[in-house]
Amino acid sequence: MQSGGHSYPVCSVQDGSYRRWVPRPTFPRSIVEFQRQFPDEEACRQYLFASRWPDRFSCRRCDGSEIGLMHRRLLWQCKGCGLQTSVTAGTVMHKTRTPLVLWFWAAYLVATHTPGISAVQLQRQLGISRYETAWLILHKLRGAMVNPEREPLRGEVEVDETYVGGRHSMRRGGRQRDGKTLVGVAVEVRGTRSGRLRMNVLGGLDQDTLAAWVSELVKPAAIVRTDGWSGYGGLAQAGFDHRPRLQHLRQPDRQFALPRVDRSISNLKNWLQGTHHGVSPEHMQVYLDEFVFRHNRRRTPLAAFQTLLGLGSSHQPTTYEQIVTRRHRHLAELTG
Ligand SMILES: [Zn+2]
Repeated sequence: MQSGGHSYPVCSVQDGSYRRWVPRPTFPRSIVEFQRQFPDEEACRQYLFASRWPDRFSCRRCDGSEIGLMHRRLLWQCKGCGLQTSVTAGTVMHKTRTPLVLWFWAAYLVATHTPGISAVQLQRQLGISRYETAWLILHKLRGAMVNPEREPLRGEVEVDETYVGGRHSMRRGGRQRDGKTLVGVAVEVRGTRSGRLRMNVLGGLDQDTLAAWVSELVKPAAIVRTDGWSGYGGLAQAGFDHRPRLQHLRQPDRQFALPRVDRSISNLKNWLQGTHHGVSPEHMQVYLDEFVFRHNRRRTPLAAFQTLLGLGSSHQPTTYEQIVTRRHRHLAELTG
């Protein structure tokens, strides 16, 4: 069964086994292409197969290379030894009752829709009858936006912090008012461009908190550029090549000191105001994760799509609960 001009393992209709393997397909460039590539459940199952075994199937128990599909139970079964593997194991779709096609569409929309997408929009666009289903899909996809094994920032990094979430943006020194959240921002310098981005809710602006936060994100000995705030005074001792902006520089010169981190903060504020109104402090990190995910995957929609679905990696995707727990522990360490 061949469903479109893309390259997949070809499924023989008679016994449902996947016999031939070809490289992973390229990412659909349009909605029309997407529809052609993922018209039904079978196309999605084949894609899952190609993602798990990009070269050839190899049974982890008997090393057999022939596999069959048990359609009704969403299981693959090794023809040599009978070992069964769930089609969705290790993905966000595991044990789902929602059709795979809907998950694929949701991940595609989330990955390609630049400002992000709400549960209501998702429900409407995909014709999902229950709002709760759309919300749950989105919730799970968002849970995949934090990569627990991500590499630390390296080379040269701009670091700054800001208050976000209220009606007016406030610089440090202003008193914190209702709904404001303190957010730390770190951006890699890549020539004239921005590299990878990190954003975290911070518990304070003191030396211990800031040094612990930067140490968590940035590889030791990297160049770290900040403004002249005394709270960054512990970075050199923490092992970084700390280069603070000199205090005597006049205010207008600031934009030349930390242009990338300034731009990221400005984009974040526009995004929070334009797309999400009134994000409360307890949910802020989830939005920051989404913003950072979009920034870091902005040139690789295929990677974004696969990451959202929990595909294309050998490790099990982290559950949302694990992420929340880890984050709370992390914040407790930062602020405690
Ligand atoms: Zn086997």
